[in-house]
Amino acid sequence: MKTSDPKNLVEAIIRACESVESVRLMEVCGTHTVSLFRSGVRSVLPPQVRLVSGPGCPVCVTSQGYIDAVLEMSTRPGVTICTYGDMVRVPGNRGSLESHRARGARVEVCYSIQEALRRAETHPGEEVVFAAVGFETTAPAAALAVLEADRMGLKNFTILNGHKRVMPALRALVGRDDTALDGFLLPGHVSVILGSEAYRDLVDRHGKACVVAGFEVEQLLLAVLGLVNQVAVGTPRLENVYGVAVRAGGNPQALACLDRVFEPVDAVWRAMGTIPESGLGLRGRYERFDAAKRFDLATEDDTQPPGCRCGEVIQGVAEPRDCTLFGEACTFEHPVGPCMVSSEGTCAAWYRYGGGH
Ligand code: SF4
Repeated sequence: MKTSDPKNLVEAIIRACESVESVRLMEVCGTHTVSLFRSGVRSVLPPQVRLVSGPGCPVCVTSQGYIDAVLEMSTRPGVTICTYGDMVRVPGNRGSLESHRARGARVEVCYSIQEALRRAETHPGEEVVFAAVGFETTAPAAALAVLEADRMGLKNFTILNGHKRVMPALRALVGRDDTALDGFLLPGHVSVILGSEAYRDLVDRHGKACVVAGFEVEQLLLAVLGLVNQVAVGTPRLENVYGVAVRAGGNPQALACLDRVFEPVDAVWRAMGTIPESGLGLRGRYERFDAAKRFDLATEDDTQPPGCRCGEVIQGVAEPRDCTLFGEACTFEHPVGPCMVSSEGTCAAWYRYGGGH
Protein backbone atom coordinates (compact mmCIF):
# COMPACT_ATOMS: atom_id res chain seq x y z
CA MET A 1 0.00 0.00 0.00
CA LYS A 2 1.34 3.42 -0.93
CA THR A 3 1.15 5.50 2.27
CA SER A 4 1.30 8.80 0.37
CA ASP A 5 -1.72 7.96 -1.77
CA PRO A 6 -4.44 10.53 -0.92
CA LYS A 7 -7.12 7.82 -0.62
CA ASN A 8 -5.01 5.87 1.85
CA LEU A 9 -4.22 9.02 3.81
CA VAL A 10 -7.90 9.93 4.08
CA GLU A 11 -8.68 6.41 5.30
CA ALA A 12 -5.86 6.65 7.84
CA ILE A 13 -7.27 9.98 9.10
CA ILE A 14 -10.73 8.43 9.45
CA ARG A 15 -9.26 5.49 11.42
CA ALA A 16 -7.24 7.84 13.66
CA CYS A 17 -10.40 9.85 14.36
CA GLU A 18 -12.19 6.77 15.74
CA SER A 19 -10.43 7.26 19.06
CA VAL A 20 -11.06 11.02 19.40
CA GLU A 21 -14.24 12.98 19.98
CA SER A 22 -13.07 16.08 18.16
CA VAL A 23 -9.84 17.69 17.02
CA ARG A 24 -9.74 21.45 16.65
CA LEU A 25 -6.89 22.55 14.41
CA MET A 26 -5.80 25.98 13.26
CA GLU A 27 -4.39 26.37 9.78
CA VAL A 28 -2.22 29.39 10.40
CA CYS A 29 -1.48 30.39 6.84
CA GLY A 30 -3.89 31.93 4.35
CA THR A 31 -2.39 29.86 1.55
CA HIS A 32 -3.23 26.73 3.54
CA THR A 33 -6.79 27.98 4.02
CA VAL A 34 -7.25 28.32 0.27
CA SER A 35 -5.38 25.08 -0.56
CA LEU A 36 -7.55 23.07 1.85
CA PHE A 37 -10.65 24.30 0.02
CA ARG A 38 -9.34 24.22 -3.54
CA SER A 39 -7.88 20.72 -3.26
CA GLY A 40 -11.08 19.32 -1.78
CA VAL A 41 -9.21 18.11 1.30
CA ARG A 42 -11.50 20.02 3.62
CA SER A 43 -14.57 18.30 2.28
CA VAL A 44 -13.26 14.74 2.72
CA LEU A 45 -12.18 15.07 6.36
CA PRO A 46 -14.30 13.31 8.97
CA PRO A 47 -16.59 15.52 11.07
CA GLN A 48 -14.38 15.16 14.15
CA VAL A 49 -11.75 17.36 12.47
CA ARG A 50 -12.54 21.06 12.83
CA LEU A 51 -10.32 23.42 10.87
CA VAL A 52 -10.28 27.07 11.87
CA SER A 53 -8.30 29.88 10.28
CA GLY A 54 -5.47 31.71 11.96
CA PRO A 55 -3.71 35.06 11.68
CA GLY A 56 -1.75 34.17 8.56
CA CYS A 57 -3.32 36.22 5.80
CA PRO A 58 -1.12 39.33 5.50
CA VAL A 59 -3.81 41.70 4.30
CA CYS A 60 -6.40 40.40 6.80
CA VAL A 61 -4.25 40.99 9.89
CA THR A 62 -3.31 44.52 8.82
CA SER A 63 -4.97 47.12 11.02
CA GLN A 64 -7.60 49.53 9.79
CA GLY A 65 -5.31 52.34 10.95
CA TYR A 66 -2.61 51.14 8.58
CA ILE A 67 -5.05 51.01 5.64
CA ASP A 68 -6.23 54.54 6.47
CA ALA A 69 -2.63 55.76 6.66
CA VAL A 70 -1.93 54.38 3.17
CA LEU A 71 -5.09 56.06 1.90
CA GLU A 72 -4.07 59.34 3.46
CA MET A 73 -0.61 59.14 1.89
CA SER A 74 -2.16 58.47 -1.51
CA THR A 75 -3.88 61.86 -1.39
CA ARG A 76 -0.68 63.82 -0.80
CA PRO A 77 0.80 65.66 -3.78
CA GLY A 78 3.71 63.98 -5.54
CA VAL A 79 3.21 60.61 -3.79
CA THR A 80 3.05 57.27 -5.58
CA ILE A 81 1.78 54.33 -3.55
CA CYS A 82 3.20 50.97 -4.62
CA THR A 83 1.80 47.78 -3.15
CA TYR A 84 0.67 44.22 -3.75
CA GLY A 85 -2.57 43.66 -5.68
CA ASP A 86 -4.72 42.52 -2.75
CA MET A 87 -4.11 45.76 -0.85
CA VAL A 88 -5.73 47.88 -3.55
CA ARG A 89 -9.31 46.73 -2.82
CA VAL A 90 -9.14 46.62 1.00
CA PRO A 91 -11.69 49.08 2.38
CA GLY A 92 -10.48 51.62 4.88
CA ASN A 93 -12.66 54.10 6.72
CA ARG A 94 -12.58 56.45 3.74
CA GLY A 95 -12.64 54.28 0.63
CA SER A 96 -9.92 52.07 -0.80
CA LEU A 97 -6.79 52.59 -2.88
CA GLU A 98 -8.91 51.53 -5.84
CA SER A 99 -11.43 54.31 -5.24
CA HIS A 100 -8.67 56.82 -4.51
CA ARG A 101 -6.95 55.85 -7.77
CA ALA A 102 -10.22 56.45 -9.63
CA ARG A 103 -10.15 59.97 -8.15
CA GLY A 104 -6.61 60.61 -9.38
CA ALA A 105 -4.28 59.14 -6.75
CA ARG A 106 -1.14 57.48 -8.13
CA VAL A 107 -1.34 53.81 -7.10
CA GLU A 108 0.86 51.14 -8.69
CA VAL A 109 0.39 47.40 -8.21
CA CYS A 110 3.71 45.61 -7.84
CA TYR A 111 4.66 41.94 -7.80
CA SER A 112 7.72 42.71 -5.70
CA ILE A 113 9.18 45.58 -3.73
CA GLN A 114 12.01 45.75 -6.28
CA GLU A 115 9.54 47.31 -8.75
CA ALA A 116 8.87 50.09 -6.26
CA LEU A 117 12.59 50.61 -5.83
CA ARG A 118 13.09 50.87 -9.60
CA ARG A 119 10.21 53.35 -9.79
CA ALA A 120 11.83 55.55 -7.16
CA GLU A 121 15.12 55.36 -9.06
CA THR A 122 13.59 56.26 -12.42
CA HIS A 123 11.07 58.85 -11.11
CA PRO A 124 13.17 61.12 -8.87
CA GLY A 125 10.36 63.70 -8.83
CA GLU A 126 7.99 61.27 -7.11
CA GLU A 127 7.83 60.26 -3.47
CA VAL A 128 7.49 56.47 -3.73
CA VAL A 129 5.92 54.78 -0.72
CA PHE A 130 5.74 50.99 -0.67
CA ALA A 131 2.89 49.67 1.47
CA ALA A 132 4.73 46.66 2.86
CA VAL A 133 2.60 44.05 4.57
CA GLY A 134 3.36 40.41 5.19
CA PHE A 135 5.26 38.09 7.46
CA GLU A 136 8.79 36.78 7.62
CA THR A 137 8.19 35.43 4.10
CA THR A 138 8.15 38.82 2.38
CA ALA A 139 10.16 40.80 4.93
CA PRO A 140 13.59 39.59 3.68
CA ALA A 141 12.86 41.08 0.24
CA ALA A 142 11.93 44.35 1.95
CA ALA A 143 15.15 44.23 3.94
CA LEU A 144 17.16 43.75 0.75
CA ALA A 145 15.31 46.67 -0.89
CA VAL A 146 16.10 48.95 2.04
CA LEU A 147 19.78 47.95 1.90
CA GLU A 148 19.80 48.66 -1.84
CA ALA A 149 18.05 52.02 -1.38
CA ASP A 150 20.62 52.89 1.26
CA ARG A 151 23.51 51.92 -1.02
CA MET A 152 22.01 53.95 -3.89
CA GLY A 153 21.39 56.94 -1.63
CA LEU A 154 17.73 57.10 -2.66
CA LYS A 155 15.90 59.95 -0.97
CA ASN A 156 12.43 59.40 -2.46
CA PHE A 157 11.81 55.82 -1.35
CA THR A 158 10.15 54.72 1.90
CA ILE A 159 8.17 51.76 3.14
CA LEU A 160 5.05 51.99 5.24
CA ASN A 161 6.09 49.07 7.31
CA GLY A 162 3.31 46.66 8.25
CA HIS A 163 5.44 43.53 8.54
CA LYS A 164 4.44 41.06 11.22
CA ARG A 165 6.04 38.13 13.04
CA VAL A 166 4.06 34.90 13.19
CA MET A 167 5.15 33.40 16.50
CA PRO A 168 4.17 36.27 18.84
CA ALA A 169 0.64 36.15 17.42
CA LEU A 170 0.41 32.38 17.90
CA ARG A 171 1.67 32.75 21.48
CA ALA A 172 -1.03 35.37 22.07
CA LEU A 173 -3.71 33.01 20.74
CA VAL A 174 -2.60 29.77 22.30
CA GLY A 175 -3.14 30.80 25.88
CA ARG A 176 -6.74 31.89 25.37
CA ASP A 177 -9.71 29.75 26.39
CA ASP A 178 -11.95 30.81 23.50
CA THR A 179 -9.63 29.40 20.85
CA ALA A 180 -9.56 25.87 22.42
CA LEU A 181 -7.00 24.63 19.93
CA ASP A 182 -5.57 21.12 19.90
CA GLY A 183 -2.95 21.81 17.32
CA PHE A 184 -1.49 23.92 14.53
CA LEU A 185 -1.03 23.24 10.84
CA LEU A 186 2.02 25.45 10.51
CA PRO A 187 2.84 27.55 7.45
CA GLY A 188 5.18 26.26 4.78
CA HIS A 189 6.43 29.54 3.30
CA VAL A 190 7.21 31.32 6.57
CA SER A 191 8.88 28.19 7.90
CA VAL A 192 11.33 28.14 5.00
CA ILE A 193 12.72 31.36 6.51
CA LEU A 194 12.16 30.74 10.22
CA GLY A 195 12.79 26.99 10.37
CA SER A 196 10.61 24.43 12.10
CA GLU A 197 12.31 24.89 15.48
CA ALA A 198 10.84 28.40 15.70
CA TYR A 199 7.59 26.76 16.89
CA ARG A 200 9.16 24.66 19.66
CA ASP A 201 7.41 26.72 22.35
CA LEU A 202 3.97 25.71 21.09
CA VAL A 203 4.76 22.08 21.90
CA ASP A 204 7.03 22.32 24.94
CA ARG A 205 5.28 25.16 26.80
CA HIS A 206 1.74 24.97 25.50
CA GLY A 207 1.33 21.25 24.75
CA LYS A 208 -0.08 21.74 21.24
CA ALA A 209 0.28 19.31 18.37
CA CYS A 210 2.29 20.89 15.56
CA VAL A 211 3.01 19.95 11.96
CA VAL A 212 4.80 22.10 9.38
CA ALA A 213 3.49 21.34 5.90
CA GLY A 214 3.52 22.42 2.28
CA PHE A 215 0.51 23.04 0.10
CA GLU A 216 -0.06 19.96 -2.08
CA VAL A 217 -2.84 17.48 -1.33
CA GLU A 218 -0.43 14.89 0.04
CA GLN A 219 1.20 17.48 2.32
CA LEU A 220 -2.14 18.69 3.65
CA LEU A 221 -3.37 15.16 4.35
CA LEU A 222 -0.08 14.13 5.94
CA ALA A 223 -0.29 17.17 8.21
CA VAL A 224 -3.87 16.47 9.28
CA LEU A 225 -3.01 12.80 9.87
CA GLY A 226 0.03 13.75 11.95
CA LEU A 227 -1.99 16.21 14.02
CA VAL A 228 -4.88 13.81 14.62
CA ASN A 229 -2.45 11.04 15.60
CA GLN A 230 -0.67 13.35 18.05
CA VAL A 231 -3.97 14.35 19.64
CA ALA A 232 -5.20 10.74 19.71
CA VAL A 233 -2.17 9.46 21.63
CA GLY A 234 -1.95 12.62 23.76
CA THR A 235 1.68 13.27 22.90
CA PRO A 236 2.19 16.59 21.13
CA ARG A 237 5.27 16.79 18.94
CA LEU A 238 6.85 19.14 16.44
CA GLU A 239 6.66 17.38 13.08
CA ASN A 240 7.87 18.66 9.74
CA VAL A 241 6.46 16.93 6.67
CA TYR A 242 7.85 19.65 4.40
CA GLY A 243 11.49 18.69 4.84
CA VAL A 244 12.15 19.23 1.15
CA ALA A 245 11.91 23.01 1.76
CA VAL A 246 11.96 23.61 5.52
CA ARG A 247 15.02 23.01 7.65
CA ALA A 248 15.08 23.03 11.43
CA GLY A 249 17.07 26.29 11.54
CA GLY A 250 15.46 27.97 8.54
CA ASN A 251 17.38 30.09 6.06
CA PRO A 252 20.38 31.65 7.86
CA GLN A 253 21.09 34.20 5.10
CA ALA A 254 17.53 35.49 5.07
CA LEU A 255 17.42 35.60 8.87
CA ALA A 256 20.70 37.53 8.98
CA CYS A 257 19.38 40.01 6.41
CA LEU A 258 16.19 40.48 8.43
CA ASP A 259 18.18 41.04 11.60
CA ARG A 260 20.44 43.59 9.93
CA VAL A 261 17.58 45.82 8.81
CA PHE A 262 14.71 45.10 11.22
CA GLU A 263 14.23 44.63 14.93
CA PRO A 264 11.23 43.22 16.83
CA VAL A 265 8.76 45.94 17.84
CA ASP A 266 5.26 45.94 19.30
CA ALA A 267 2.66 45.93 16.53
CA VAL A 268 -1.09 46.42 16.17
CA TRP A 269 -3.07 43.60 14.56
CA ARG A 270 -6.61 43.86 13.21
CA ALA A 271 -9.00 43.59 16.13
CA MET A 272 -6.26 42.01 18.24
CA GLY A 273 -4.73 45.19 19.60
CA THR A 274 -1.00 45.50 20.29
CA ILE A 275 0.96 42.26 20.51
CA PRO A 276 4.42 42.65 22.07
CA GLU A 277 7.34 42.23 19.66
CA SER A 278 5.04 41.03 16.90
CA GLY A 279 6.22 43.53 14.32
CA LEU A 280 9.44 44.24 12.46
CA GLY A 281 10.55 47.86 12.87
CA LEU A 282 13.35 49.42 10.85
CA ARG A 283 16.54 49.75 12.87
CA GLY A 284 17.75 53.27 13.63
CA ARG A 285 20.33 53.26 10.83
CA TYR A 286 17.50 52.78 8.29
CA GLU A 287 14.87 54.94 9.96
CA ARG A 288 14.81 57.42 7.09
CA PHE A 289 13.12 54.76 4.97
CA ASP A 290 10.23 54.53 7.43
CA ALA A 291 7.21 56.28 5.86
CA ALA A 292 5.29 56.40 9.16
CA LYS A 293 8.12 58.37 10.75
CA ARG A 294 9.02 60.53 7.80
CA PHE A 295 5.41 61.54 7.09
CA ASP A 296 4.10 61.36 10.65
CA LEU A 297 1.44 58.71 10.03
CA ALA A 298 -0.61 56.97 12.73
CA THR A 299 -1.46 53.31 12.10
CA GLU A 300 -2.75 52.17 15.49
CA ASP A 301 -6.53 52.06 14.92
CA ASP A 302 -7.54 48.38 15.19
CA THR A 303 -11.30 48.83 14.79
CA GLN A 304 -13.27 47.07 12.04
CA PRO A 305 -15.90 48.10 9.50
CA PRO A 306 -19.36 47.98 11.16
CA GLY A 307 -20.65 44.40 11.34
CA CYS A 308 -17.43 42.84 10.01
CA ARG A 309 -16.05 39.93 12.04
CA CYS A 310 -12.70 39.52 10.27
CA GLY A 311 -10.92 40.05 13.58
CA GLU A 312 -12.61 36.96 15.05
CA VAL A 313 -12.19 34.97 11.85
CA ILE A 314 -8.41 35.45 11.88
CA GLN A 315 -8.28 34.36 15.51
CA GLY A 316 -10.21 31.15 14.87
CA VAL A 317 -13.13 32.11 17.12
CA ALA A 318 -15.65 32.79 14.34
CA GLU A 319 -16.28 31.42 10.87
CA PRO A 320 -17.46 33.46 7.91
CA ARG A 321 -20.95 31.95 8.25
CA ASP A 322 -21.14 33.53 11.73
CA CYS A 323 -21.01 36.97 10.10
CA THR A 324 -24.45 38.26 9.14
CA LEU A 325 -22.92 40.19 6.23
CA PHE A 326 -21.36 37.10 4.63
CA GLY A 327 -22.66 36.54 1.10
CA GLU A 328 -25.26 39.28 1.53
CA ALA A 329 -23.87 42.76 2.15
CA CYS A 330 -20.33 41.37 1.84
CA THR A 331 -19.42 39.55 -1.35
CA PHE A 332 -16.27 39.12 -3.40
CA GLU A 333 -17.59 41.81 -5.77
CA HIS A 334 -18.44 44.18 -2.90
CA PRO A 335 -16.21 43.29 0.05
CA VAL A 336 -16.75 44.87 3.45
CA GLY A 337 -13.65 43.50 5.18
CA PRO A 338 -10.17 42.31 4.15
CA CYS A 339 -10.98 38.61 4.67
CA MET A 340 -13.30 38.89 1.64
CA VAL A 341 -10.79 40.86 -0.43
CA SER A 342 -7.59 38.95 -0.06
CA SER A 343 -6.79 35.98 -2.27
CA GLU A 344 -5.74 34.30 1.00
CA GLY A 345 -8.75 35.50 2.99
CA THR A 346 -10.97 32.98 4.76
CA CYS A 347 -14.23 34.70 3.81
CA ALA A 348 -13.16 34.83 0.15
CA ALA A 349 -12.30 31.10 0.27
CA TRP A 350 -15.68 30.24 1.82
CA TYR A 351 -17.45 32.44 -0.72
CA ARG A 352 -15.60 30.99 -3.68
CA TYR A 353 -15.63 27.33 -2.66
CA GLY A 354 -18.93 27.15 -0.83
CA GLY A 355 -17.99 26.88 2.82
CA GLY A 356 -17.13 23.65 4.60
CA HIS A 357 -18.25 21.39 7.33
FE1 SF4 B 1 -15.87 40.80 7.30
FE2 SF4 B 1 -17.21 40.23 5.08
FE3 SF4 B 1 -15.93 38.32 6.34
FE4 SF4 B 1 -18.12 39.38 7.40
S1 SF4 B 1 -18.01 38.17 5.52
S2 SF4 B 1 -16.19 38.89 8.46
S3 SF4 B 1 -17.93 41.51 6.73
S4 SF4 B 1 -14.99 40.10 5.36
